[in-house]
Amino acid sequence: MNNDTAALAAALIDTARATVECRLNAGTSGNVSARIGNGFIITPSGLPPAQCKTSDMVTMAMDGQHADALEPSSEWRIHRDIYANFPEAGAIIHTHSPFATALACLRTDIPPFHYMIARFGGDSVRCAVYATFGSEELSKNALAALDGRNACLLANHGMLVYGRDLDHTLAQAIELETLCEQYWRSRQIGPPALLTEAEMAKALERFHWYGRPRRK
Ligand code: 13P
Ligand code: ZN
Repeated sequence: MNNDTAALAAALIDTARATVECRLNAGTSGNVSARIGNGFIITPSGLPPAQCKTSDMVTMAMDGQHADALEPSSEWRIHRDIYANFPEAGAIIHTHSPFATALACLRTDIPPFHYMIARFGGDSVRCAVYATFGSEELSKNALAALDGRNACLLANHGMLVYGRDLDHTLAQAIELETLCEQYWRSRQIGPPALLTEAEMAKALERFHWYGRPRRK
């Protein structure tokens, strides 16, 4: 492992541990990856982040080959397919976070109940059609749900988000889980009023520049 790969492996572990600390994941649920060179580095399958060492991270080529000791996350195909189809994706986080997963079990898209939905690229966060975890079919379904978006729910499973780098992607995952909780809560007390297409278009336009802090 060269210095660049070792540094990214350490950052991957920090992010995977942060998903547990933020209650986005528990036990061995979820996985994290980051793009490196012509491939990506991903958490191993079935190992809780607290027990991971940098040498446990798996560096993969886009054809799914790797030469590391542990097997990669069972969801490596989703990660590989996102990097192949979305050049702007620098890191990916998959979680079984409580509110996103509860909504994913309803197999429902999250509608524009809040303008922050636009943060993920459109006027909804879609729920991908159910398929078995780790399957090629799940990856296909996730890609369809991600069309024009950088996040989706996975039916009866969890959620998926990609971003520029690990820090940005973790922040996006926390934002999506927060939105899912807000949607869940607003549905408890009545159907939330939804934003119109025109209102969402304005929010989407603002997100072209919002969120990149700059000095005057
Ligand atoms: P891995 O431990 O293989 O990454 O699996 C966890 C998971 O969330 C599968 O969907
Ligand atoms: Zn999962």
